[in-house]
Amino acid sequence: MSYETELKAAVHAVTNACRLCVNVQSALVSAESMTKKDESPVTVADFGAQAVICSELGEAFPGVPIAGEEDASGLRAPEGEALLAQVLEYVGAIVPGATLDGVLSAIDSGNYNGGPSGRFWTLDPIDGTKGFLRGEQYAVALALIEDGEVVLGVLGCPNLPLDLGDPAHGRGCVLTAVKGGGAYMRGLDGGEAVRISVSDISDPSLAPICESVESAHSSHDESGRVAEILGVGVPPLRIDSQCKYAVIARGDASIYLRLPTRKDYTEKIWDHAAGSLIVEEAGGKVTDISGKRLDFSRGRTLSENSGVIGTNGLVHDRVLAAVKEVIGG
Ligand code: AMP
Ligand code: MG
Repeated sequence: MSYETELKAAVHAVTNACRLCVNVQSALVSAESMTKKDESPVTVADFGAQAVICSELGEAFPGVPIAGEEDASGLRAPEGEALLAQVLEYVGAIVPGATLDGVLSAIDSGNYNGGPSGRFWTLDPIDGTKGFLRGEQYAVALALIEDGEVVLGVLGCPNLPLDLGDPAHGRGCVLTAVKGGGAYMRGLDGGEAVRISVSDISDPSLAPICESVESAHSSHDESGRVAEILGVGVPPLRIDSQCKYAVIARGDASIYLRLPTRKDYTEKIWDHAAGSLIVEEAGGKVTDISGKRLDFSRGRTLSENSGVIGTNGLVHDRVLAAVKEVIGG
């Protein structure tokens, strides 16, 4: 199956959601709101991006359910009225003729629970909310899952430089992959999609590591010890969101470590579906910390997995062994 129609619609929806996020970020994420720890900008963009994507997908593929991160209950409550008006304003700038009811029902159409059979979309309207608030990296992540397997993934990364080594070259990327069809990147403003591939580094000591900025999401102490065992000399590249999968898929880094900080946390499918397929289709490998494939058939969470390790494939076994030595995974 070529998934041409699905890919085109997914790229369109993600690109529009990215435009909304860029609008919100430039208007609302000010130094003032950050010092006040005001998280409302990210809330507006989160709901707005989910509304845009769910309404486009609902129109193009009626009947295909969506497992999205957000639901509209907070917006439906009386105290959500002002927020809802703001969400509608931003959605209306992207989807002409948007209505309050349309926005609410689009957001709530993302309430699917996932599972092992059939076809459904999974969506993280803004992955990396902390990065969004800092004006740094975040991603809009959309994937299509069929019978528990990710078959299509799109990552919109509005702040990611096209070339990490040359940020002046421009930023804003859309990465895509279809199962069996390779991984591609284009600029958020359009342009031709170019095929991307992971690095060809086979000596782990030369393989740069990337990890979360937030030490609550991935243990920095333990990744430091893994780096020591592997002999990696360069400091880790810390980036929020699934932009980490993007930099592995492009070969900017070769190892993505997500080492659990809590026993009771289960990873969410929308935090990994698009990114993991993009890395695999770029020639890399993604497993959990014990070497198991990520299992997207268990509902909204990766309940059968613990942590995530993504690599260029060549260094995967050596990284798994080092992680095992550090945390006994
Ligand atoms: P990152 O930007 O890679 O640090 O990851 C952001 C994602 O981390 C969010 O979308 C959350 O769903 C997820 N998250 C929240 N708490 C945790 C946790 N304790 N461990 C791992 N991931 C988490
Ligand atoms: Mg997320």
